[in-house]
Amino acid sequence: MLNAKWIRTSEDTKDICPVYEKKWTETKKIRAAELKMTALGVYEAELNGKRAGEFVLAPGWTSYEKRLQVQTYDVSSLVSERNVLRVTVGKGWYASPMPGWLETEDKRKRAKRKPGLIAELRIAYSDGTESYVMTDEDWTWKESQIRFSEIYDGEIFDASFEDKEAKPVVCFEGPDEALIPQEGEEILEKEEVFAKEILITPEGDTVVDFGQEITGYAEFSVQAAAGERIHILHGEMLDKNGNFYNANYRSAKAEIQYICREGYQTWHPHLTFFAFRYIKLAAFPGDPKPEQFKGIVVCSDISQTGSIRCGHQGLNQLISNVFWGQKGNFLDVPTDCPQRDERLGWTGDAEVFVKAASLNFDVERFFVKWLHDLMADQRADGGVGSVIPDYLPDDEPSAAWGDAAVICPWQIYQTYGNEDILREQFPSMKKWVDYISGATSERYLWTGGTHFGDWLGLDAPQGSYKGSSREDFIASAFYARSTELLVKAGEVLGKDMTEYRDLYEKIRNAFQKKFPVYKTQTEHVLALKFGLCQSLQETADALAAMIRKDGWQIKTGFVGTPYILHVLSDFGYEELAYTLLLREKYPSWLFSVSKGATTIWEHWDGVMENGDFWSEDMNSFNHYSYGSVIDWIYEKCAGIRHEEDHPGFKEAVIAPCPDKRLGWLEAELKTRNGKIRSKWSYQGNRIRFEIDTQVPSRIRIGKKDKIVLPGKYIFWDKE
Ligand code: BGC
Repeated sequence: MLNAKWIRTSEDTKDICPVYEKKWTETKKIRAAELKMTALGVYEAELNGKRAGEFVLAPGWTSYEKRLQVQTYDVSSLVSERNVLRVTVGKGWYASPMPGWLETEDKRKRAKRKPGLIAELRIAYSDGTESYVMTDEDWTWKESQIRFSEIYDGEIFDASFEDKEAKPVVCFEGPDEALIPQEGEEILEKEEVFAKEILITPEGDTVVDFGQEITGYAEFSVQAAAGERIHILHGEMLDKNGNFYNANYRSAKAEIQYICREGYQTWHPHLTFFAFRYIKLAAFPGDPKPEQFKGIVVCSDISQTGSIRCGHQGLNQLISNVFWGQKGNFLDVPTDCPQRDERLGWTGDAEVFVKAASLNFDVERFFVKWLHDLMADQRADGGVGSVIPDYLPDDEPSAAWGDAAVICPWQIYQTYGNEDILREQFPSMKKWVDYISGATSERYLWTGGTHFGDWLGLDAPQGSYKGSSREDFIASAFYARSTELLVKAGEVLGKDMTEYRDLYEKIRNAFQKKFPVYKTQTEHVLALKFGLCQSLQETADALAAMIRKDGWQIKTGFVGTPYILHVLSDFGYEELAYTLLLREKYPSWLFSVSKGATTIWEHWDGVMENGDFWSEDMNSFNHYSYGSVIDWIYEKCAGIRHEEDHPGFKEAVIAPCPDKRLGWLEAELKTRNGKIRSKWSYQGNRIRFEIDTQVPSRIRIGKKDKIVLPGKYIFWDKE
């Protein structure tokens, strides 16, 4: 793909990031210039002092040994007569010691990897000729001002440092066969958040509060003397006494150290990121003021497609938290959390949230790229790792996590209507189903193995993270689900799926024989959602009764939560679904809101009722999984959805389900086939519905059920 040579430093720079340099002159008139490049590590390129492109943390994170994205930047306006191309390269995901909390041989090897660079600048002249500037032995390198940079621990920057000695680079054999054109979205600085206030905590710390948890970095401006030191720590929460807290980042230091140069300076980190609402100024010159700080939101360039507002302030805050949770965790890979020593592409979390994600934002390209990595990292026996890129290769595949291989492509196809993703992922989907058939200890079920179960379910036995739903039950239910979706995908692609249709029937029968009774909320939910029970209505009635017996509380974990409100409202329990959604007492979605959350928490009680934190070993305040509830709000409250045979909303179903406790609700969805807006409001004892659709739609309100052309429609409930 590139004719340039891979280069790296001639000596081990340890933690210091090198800056590679090439100088040359041009004499002819230039028509266009295009820079193609990538790195083993993360890079930032500058041509004549101006950034080439806006991609932050390029080339992003892929399964580097197999797939390394090459970026292309139009730099026509940057080339001049005398030119300097400078590229700073850091460790990034390639060479940081990831995953943070585990001591594995793989991690040790990763931390010893040597970053490298490859770049190729093509210059086209007005006379029709062209020339190339390419990385080769003529390039030089210096030590940059970035003295340390790594994903979990942060960055150390010395603004007063200058390396005057240019050293020769060495060329090496890089992974040329892994190079692919940029597939995913670029990672960009997408938004800015201003500091709300500066606090002095009871312990005497100076803390900047941005009022919102974000992922990215803080930028500061300061007047300083050369050599003065700035030291910043990041945190998501203040503890119940109002003190700075980040013990939940575990081993991730997440800190900035900055040595000032003389004068006024503005700086933010370049080759790393953090998640934070608060920053502690452990050292900072002068008397800091809020105007000196701003939060820069760094996220994949996904554009917002959905929005929801309603007459319930708590629910509006929850919705905002879901959006922020997605922005914070869609940084090239769908991560579990963006702050502690994980930040990994956990497959289960992505599987739980993919539908919500695809309605909130246009994530088609984002998932296409990640699913290609999933396919590349899929093991020879078809097993899918718990995280993609697979930095946990020794983990045994788990049900509901590995099923991301089937559920994610199917959902992306459903939301956007593009069959390509099914065509590309079909072999991987099939391999996953075949893997289960081979891994089980009992035919037509998935029994045995090591699973995460109903992760963080509230019915977990004391001391366990796994809810009490049976692992064999969950695994077998997902085996059925993945097989069913594989059949559907195959049918879309025109394949003969007789064998797998037959397999599905056998799984369903075996499931019904093996599991005649359901013991937990999640078991009921899965049997209903995946159509595995004998009588749907009876199972829904039993689920509703169980919730009532449990004190009107949700007890589900990662596996049951995304579906629980759907199955309730599908079988006549919409009022109960709303009651669960609007409950403010622990455990509930709004409990975290009542405790001031600005993103979705990993635990229903990340902060407990008495204000204490859940133990620091597993307590993220930015974990999108439970935010999956938003897809119920689009589909059921606002009523915007589509039938499976109209993927991409070729035809919509608009069937709002109002509830007086909200007063009104308005949702808008930009689909591949046009915009759909649905609004309802209580006016006295009547309900007014306003529907504005650019898509042929079937509108269902009360007893009304009619097919309409694109247009604007007003209805009243009693007509
Ligand atoms: C992650 C989860 C993940 C889980 C697997 C955790 O450490 O943060 O979100 O899915 O491990 O059980």
